[in-house]
Amino acid sequence: MDRASEFALGACFGCANVFDFNPDTVPSILIDPETTLPPDLTNDVEAATARAQRQPLCPSCVAKVNAKREAAGLPPIRALTTGS
Ligand SMILES: [Zn+2]
Repeated sequence: MDRASEFALGACFGCANVFDFNPDTVPSILIDPETTLPPDLTNDVEAATARAQRQPLCPSCVAKVNAKREAAGLPPIRALTTGS
């Protein structure tokens, strides 16, 4: 099995639904574990960025997060998907 066809099962950070994804291309979001927010939505961006870890997001949650980000004047998450 070549690397491009490897898939993982994991829980979406946003909705906790388990979904399968390619770890190399899954849309993900940096989340500060203390505030459970993306670092750029916290009051101390620098400290939150240092703590943050990438969490996978399912496609429907990417759409929800992007709506919130755009409402806050932030650029949307760009998913690196090769299919739908
Ligand atoms: Zn989700």
